[in-house]
Amino acid sequence: MQKLSKIAVLTSGGDAPGMNPCIRAVVRTAIYNGLQVAGIRQGYQGLIDNNLYEMNTRSVSNILNLGGTILKTARCIPFRTDEGMETAYQNLKANGIEGLVVIGGDGTFTGALRFSKKYPDIKVIGVPGTIDNDLYGSTYTLGFDTATNTVIEAIDKIRDTADAHDRLFFIEVMGRDSGAIALRAGISCGAEAILLPERDTVIGNLIENLKKGQYNKKSSSIVIVAEGDKSGGAYDLAEAVRQQIKFYDIKVTILGHLQRGGSPSAFDRILGSRLGFAAVNALINGETQKMVGLEANHIKLTDLEEALTQHQFKLEDDLMQMADVLSI
Ligand code: ATP
Repeated sequence: MQKLSKIAVLTSGGDAPGMNPCIRAVVRTAIYNGLQVAGIRQGYQGLIDNNLYEMNTRSVSNILNLGGTILKTARCIPFRTDEGMETAYQNLKANGIEGLVVIGGDGTFTGALRFSKKYPDIKVIGVPGTIDNDLYGSTYTLGFDTATNTVIEAIDKIRDTADAHDRLFFIEVMGRDSGAIALRAGISCGAEAILLPERDTVIGNLIENLKKGQYNKKSSSIVIVAEGDKSGGAYDLAEAVRQQIKFYDIKVTILGHLQRGGSPSAFDRILGSRLGFAAVNALINGETQKMVGLEANHIKLTDLEEALTQHQFKLEDDLMQMADVLSI
């Protein structure tokens, strides 16, 4: 097996808290093992623009507590083209880079896999970095825990005002294809209803449940709506319910981008460190086209191909059932 001498790391797609601890672990694990390491700015765009710099142990000092990503991230259309990939490859070769750690979501992995099939002499390992928790091969993705805690903190505050005014709040949280944040935040905040992309919303049932809540003397109600819920979003739902429920003052809050930011939780700092450490060790061991993930508290390598084709992440049925029972 040919020994690696230089690797690079990039973050791509949506930023997620925990990316910085992961970058730190990649850099320090590489240097500890005698490898040089370059940081690529702005994801695949930086690869095409040759926007990279040599990193040392001090380049990643004091970043464990920072949200976002010190390498910046981007959504890069040219990398989808053969010409863009060729430029990226030439830049990697010119810089002597033989291995690449890409931190991002399924789009990032799709690009990484295509690139690595075209240019197999560059070894590629993916780290699941997305707040959506929707990747096969890792029970948790980087950023999911912090984002869920951020959502919980916001909803707790909204509950105070909802309670003081006998209000019903529709709160929209991130998750276009995955209700992972909505489900866990809903359980943690005692939401009266949780609307998820994974199951159909029957508005009649929702209204019935809210009426029951009022009959049972609930002074406030919180309905969490995942972005990807198919019934039309928080505003439309609120309007539909307003037509039939008069006893609550109905308000809508869209949490939006505040869910992405903030200092990573302990869980995401440790997960980022473990995955970054594992990614570099995988490269050193000659692995390529793999994703490092965490399953049953153990590091696991999954083929990128499998991680992408098995993409459908399934929400836990027992959690959904429990949430319905506990919200009465
Ligand atoms: P998130 O889950 O946070 O959205 P993501 O990694 O899925 O993260 P995307 O914007 O879908 O985010 O993908 C990130 C980048 O990966 C894209 O901007 C593009 O540069 C690259 N990419 C995505 N799909 C492909 C593809 N089919 N071929 C080449 N590159 C791709």
